[in-house]
Amino acid sequence: MIKITLATSNPHKLEEINAINTNPNIVFDVVKGDFDPIEDGKTFEENAKIKAVEASKVERTYCLADDSGLCVDALEGRPGIHSARYAKTQKEKIEKLLNELKNVPYEFRGAYFVCSMVLVDKKGNVLHKETGKAYGYIDDEEKGTNGFGFDPVFFMPGYDKTMAELAEKEKNKISHRANALIPMLKWIEENLL
Ligand code: IMP
Repeated sequence: MIKITLATSNPHKLEEINAINTNPNIVFDVVKGDFDPIEDGKTFEENAKIKAVEASKVERTYCLADDSGLCVDALEGRPGIHSARYAKTQKEKIEKLLNELKNVPYEFRGAYFVCSMVLVDKKGNVLHKETGKAYGYIDDEEKGTNGFGFDPVFFMPGYDKTMAELAEKEKNKISHRANALIPMLKWIEENLL
């Protein structure tokens, strides 16, 4: 069995990761106490590495960090790595995004979620990295109550639903986090178990 600490204090991420992981020999937990390292990297991957290395100093186990965010075409990739700090509350973030895209027609509202994952050993050495994406459009109103963050305005044409209208099980098959985590779990099974 392998214990992996998730470098996050976001309980939604632990829930999603636990739902995606079907291997009972890989057990995830979150970092204990307040965990809020300064994410001053220039990319999702750099920020994930910063978080994973910081978590390994606290927990001394394998640590996995995920850094994720929303990149909107019409905003030249913003909010991108600044998604978490785009506005104070999630409600304000959605309002700000819809406001920025007010007069932007549907065909230019393309967007994608990115998730970079970095796994380190207990000394903070990088063992493996994966990046996953999920493509969609920014809707002009909120729909659905599942998920978190920008999910209610992230419309996925292939499903004709926003990410927040997808059942948790469906999101966990196609999300950016799933697209990074599934190959990451495969690598862990092949190399660490
Ligand atoms: P971080 O990876 O914790 O830095 O998260 C960055 C921000 O991206 C979050 O605060 C959310 O606003 C957004 N985000 C990341 N993943 C998702 C998701 O699965 N759904 C909706 N929003 C997300």
